[in-house]
Amino acid sequence: MSPSSESPAAGAAPVLVDTRNRPLRDLRVSVTDRCNFRCTYCMPKEVFGKDFQFLEREALLSFGEIHRLVRIFRDHGVEKIRLTGGEPLVRRKIETLIEMLAYHDDLDLTLTTNASLLPQKAQALKDAGLKRITVSLDALDDAIFRRMNDVDFPVGKVLAGIEAADRAGLNPIKVNMVVKRGVNDHEVLPMARFFRGSGHILRFIEFMDVGSTNGWDMANVVSSRELVERIHAEFPIAPVDPNYRGEVAERWRYLDGRGEVGFISSVTQAFCKDCTRARLSAEGRLFTCLFATEGTDLRSLLRADADDAEVSAAITRVWRARTDRYSEIRTAETAKMRKVEMSYIGG
Ligand code: SAM
Ligand code: SF4
Ligand code: SF4
Repeated sequence: MSPSSESPAAGAAPVLVDTRNRPLRDLRVSVTDRCNFRCTYCMPKEVFGKDFQFLEREALLSFGEIHRLVRIFRDHGVEKIRLTGGEPLVRRKIETLIEMLAYHDDLDLTLTTNASLLPQKAQALKDAGLKRITVSLDALDDAIFRRMNDVDFPVGKVLAGIEAADRAGLNPIKVNMVVKRGVNDHEVLPMARFFRGSGHILRFIEFMDVGSTNGWDMANVVSSRELVERIHAEFPIAPVDPNYRGEVAERWRYLDGRGEVGFISSVTQAFCKDCTRARLSAEGRLFTCLFATEGTDLRSLLRADADDAEVSAAITRVWRARTDRYSEIRTAETAKMRKVEMSYIGG
């Protein structure tokens, strides 16, 4: 058997696998490269300032184009779609796109947001067919959070967004916290204490060297191992089996039954060997790794009236040739390489 195909079950479409036998299962779709926050680890103001050239409107994939690509990706085995960005809720009428994608009710459809617009949007997102949501929040301390988002956005409004999502039934809600040593790592225990027993799942993300503008330094990374120890000392936890192959967050449960926490250890415990994720940028470039330097332009194909078979063949070629394992080979040198920005490629 060739390394790029697995024997399909009778009647099923062949599973598309890459050079390391990893199937294509998840697609992260960036719907905009714009954001109303300037998180220092993602879109530092010095780079993403007033003069920064974001994509023009015509450059963005239309909802119809995104829907068509999602349908073709689904035919290749994609089971999970995450809408992201930039900030996905700043894309106008995002609920219309959700409604289009929700037509495929076998797809696990979710979205990651900074929650700034959730109080007014949560119910419309749910009504459109969104199943779950992930919210980013890096601190409970208002001054620290305002400094990290760098647009003076208060914690209270993010919490109001989480409550609105909960009321609308977009649960279980996951809360992502990027931990940076010396910046917000002393907020880890307050965050754990706050979300324990809330029904929401807090996940700690190691600060990553995405893009080339966030001044990443290993000295700022707090390893998940260290975080597990810190939390365990206060609130005893034990590991839980993953839900499925390729699950990004390592799951742990509180021994007193008050829920779960997750750890995303892209830096200290690479999970490339099970990475089943592709990323589609807002202008329709396909990337096979978060740390990629180049993507494949699918928008040109769509706009040149290629039929589904041609688009499908392009996706197949890209995935079959995929060799990515950046986190396994990360060094101080690779961290300095020019890579696409996370706000562009979609987190
Ligand atoms: N704007 C939305 C948000 O912040 O939730 C979605 C896009 S954002 C790029 C997706 C996720 O990537 C967020 O949870 C964010 O905290 C995370 N992220 C961004 N830069 C990161 C970095 N340098 N290291 C680790 N996680 C990062
Ligand atoms: Fe915007 Fe999300 Fe990046 Fe923060 S992490 S700047 S909210 S895209
Ligand atoms: Fe996947 Fe690339 Fe991250 Fe490895 S470094 S887990 S291949 S996105």
